[in-house]
Amino acid sequence: MRKTLIAGNWKMNFTVTEAESFFKSFKIQKKEGVELLFCPPFTDIPITRFFLERSSILWGAQNVYPEDNGAFTGEISAPMLKDLGCSYVICGHSERRQILGESDELVARKVKAVLSHDMIPILCVGETGEERKEGQTEERIGSEIRTALFELSKEEAAKVVIAYEPIWAIGSGKAATPEGAEEIAVFIRKTVKETAGKKASEEVRILYGGSVNGDNMSHFLKQKDIDGALIGGASLKPETMIDIYSKA
Ligand code: PEP
Repeated sequence: MRKTLIAGNWKMNFTVTEAESFFKSFKIQKKEGVELLFCPPFTDIPITRFFLERSSILWGAQNVYPEDNGAFTGEISAPMLKDLGCSYVICGHSERRQILGESDELVARKVKAVLSHDMIPILCVGETGEERKEGQTEERIGSEIRTALFELSKEEAAKVVIAYEPIWAIGSGKAATPEGAEEIAVFIRKTVKETAGKKASEEVRILYGGSVNGDNMSHFLKQKDIDGALIGGASLKPETMIDIYSKA
């Protein structure tokens, strides 16, 4: 049975003071079988830990560098994140692929580094509006997944969370249709099966991300192959995240 995951990606938002005021007004009733996760900017991880460590809510990071230490100015490693109590790390978010030029190969190294330090990678995949129009969605997503899973054992591949985030839906207010997202989730499972075997394809969790809010969330979760959501903008409002979690 795959556990539902509701993950908030704060992106580059909230100072420590703002994060503190978010968590002061964030109260939920714990639900069995649903994991709730916040991925704040690196600078907010200690204050997030302070507020969440005695709760069932998890925290993680939005990025990682795939070496443990060394001359990589400005980067943060997997052991550093593990030491801060992170459970999950987002790898290959489309904003990093597009703005910072992250390649599929670099993302694959990040996924491996996160798993090697006993955390769970959330591998983001998704097509641009242009690729969608040109009918290249499966080609793009298929290659992102195959590259990321290539160096992993079947057991490691099964642990990866794959977030389908169509780039045209991120921050646009235009979410994919639940049926459209399910169709891609089925393709993702098929790709995992071809790359890492049947067991991994049944165990891998698939999230949908892209303009998820309290109103559309439950339609995505009703889909057979969608196991949760990765939420950007809406995760910055405590009342919206409480609403989303309560509906999950
Ligand atoms: C995201 O950045 O992962 C995301 C899904 O953003 P939004 O929910 O704002 O579309």
